[in-house]
Amino acid sequence: MSVVDLAPEAAAQAPVAFLNRFHKLGDDFFTQLAAQPLPDPHWVATSPACARLLGLPPDWAQRASLNALEVLSGNALWPGMRPLASVYSGHQFGVWAGQLGDGRAHLLGEIATPAGPMELQLKGSGLTPYSRMGDGRAVLRSSIREFMCSEAMAGLGIPTTRALCITGSALPVRRETMETAAIVTRVAPSFIRFGHFEHFAHHGQHDALKRLADFVIDHHLPACREAADPYAALLQAAATSTAEMIAQWQAVGFCHGVMNTDNMSILGLTIDYGPFGFLDGFDPHHICNHSDHQGRYAFDRQPAVAFWNLHALAQAMLPLLGNGNGNGNEHADAASEAALAAVEPYRTTFERAFRQRLAAKFGLRGERVGDLELIDTLMRLLASEQTDFTILFRRLADFDSRADADNAALRDMFRDRPAFDAWAARYRERLAHQGGEDDDAARRVRMRRVNPRVMLRNHLAEGAIRLATAGDFSEVARLLRVLEHPFDDPAHPTAQDDADAGFPPDWAQSIEVSCSS
Ligand code: AMP
Ligand code: MG
Repeated sequence: MSVVDLAPEAAAQAPVAFLNRFHKLGDDFFTQLAAQPLPDPHWVATSPACARLLGLPPDWAQRASLNALEVLSGNALWPGMRPLASVYSGHQFGVWAGQLGDGRAHLLGEIATPAGPMELQLKGSGLTPYSRMGDGRAVLRSSIREFMCSEAMAGLGIPTTRALCITGSALPVRRETMETAAIVTRVAPSFIRFGHFEHFAHHGQHDALKRLADFVIDHHLPACREAADPYAALLQAAATSTAEMIAQWQAVGFCHGVMNTDNMSILGLTIDYGPFGFLDGFDPHHICNHSDHQGRYAFDRQPAVAFWNLHALAQAMLPLLGNGNGNGNEHADAASEAALAAVEPYRTTFERAFRQRLAAKFGLRGERVGDLELIDTLMRLLASEQTDFTILFRRLADFDSRADADNAALRDMFRDRPAFDAWAARYRERLAHQGGEDDDAARRVRMRRVNPRVMLRNHLAEGAIRLATAGDFSEVARLLRVLEHPFDDPAHPTAQDDADAGFPPDWAQSIEVSCSS
């Protein structure tokens, strides 16, 4: 591997202040090793928004002195980078899966940015000691999906790991068919998962477990240190941030697809985009992962699954809980009591956050008796008709609350018109309590800020992937630009804008997304 030095003038602008604090956790946590070179790489896409977050100059990808194409393909290093693959374990589909780890990812290092310290990680960068049966690679198709969804979620304001770029190569990779390799550069304050905690708990490495918990507290959640029991506070912070994240998923119709405990971030970030999907028609039982035969990770099960996962995390943290008081059974009781008390706030936090987001989606101000039922009635109607989730709320923003308004565009979305009319009458009555038609314009603005116009629907991703597979990356870049501002109405909508925000074509239903990536 060639290590390319930065020219001194470039070095001043380059992200060279490497902090690499994860490395200080010690050998139990990772294996230091270089990425496997990606032959003859080319750029597929870059995210200007992510680059801005990192404080990179606009032309960072093209600067010869930075050599970013080679560095972010695993073929060279910036000074200060110390690549490693970390080890974790986890529960997959509810079953203990034992050791997993970064099987195709390399943490390059941690840099200082205007947004605080950020880790740079390559995904698809070759074999590691944790690759198990895998080949260490990721294909272009899945890399585009991960890249675009990371940035789309950020555009929606949902906590997520970010993606700086994709590089591609002609290197063949075998999946169901032969595809080609790509690498996504992911960015996050930390890639630590529930599964990291489970790993050390399972092996009885309580010192390492404690080091890990202290590390997360000191570097990411310093407020926990002030609590009477900092480890219980850490667990509770994970519970509440996860609850907020899941409430946001449910509010936009995001289905993760593989909520294994190794795919759960300790910081409550959406992580590991595989067979995810955004709902087109509102089907609460939607299963986006074709390999999830039992529907364990169906859309409406996500809130409960997250709670289950938090219990797995709580179980792993037991050795740290209960303040070390008492011994034997007494300590075990105190520890489980502390663990349960720490994860319990998940429920109320989720309920409150989700209720608030729903009320905002409906444009309701203040809480009134009957609101929940009003919301629930429409949600049931949507479910029974599988109404398009995104378009429905966008049109609901336009709801005209004058008595004689017919709201045709909205009404036309329903087959059961009498059911809609009955609901609309109640909605109009409810809106009357907050200004009625006088509030319509302001309500429309409020609702458009929380109900996106465009989403990364499967068929849009698929269109970009098809072109990219043929060597045309323009649609990836175009969609990315649109998804950075998912709530904005274009001033003069083109046919393309209308297509982005329109109903999915019939063929969208036949897109099958599996774990194969
Ligand atoms: P996932 O379900 O994609 O989150 O992956 C579960 C585990 O399998 C993680 O430890 C991954 O690193 C590993 N893995 C997935 N795909 C590959 C691959 N192609 N090569 C090596 N490891 C992989
Ligand atoms: Mg994973």
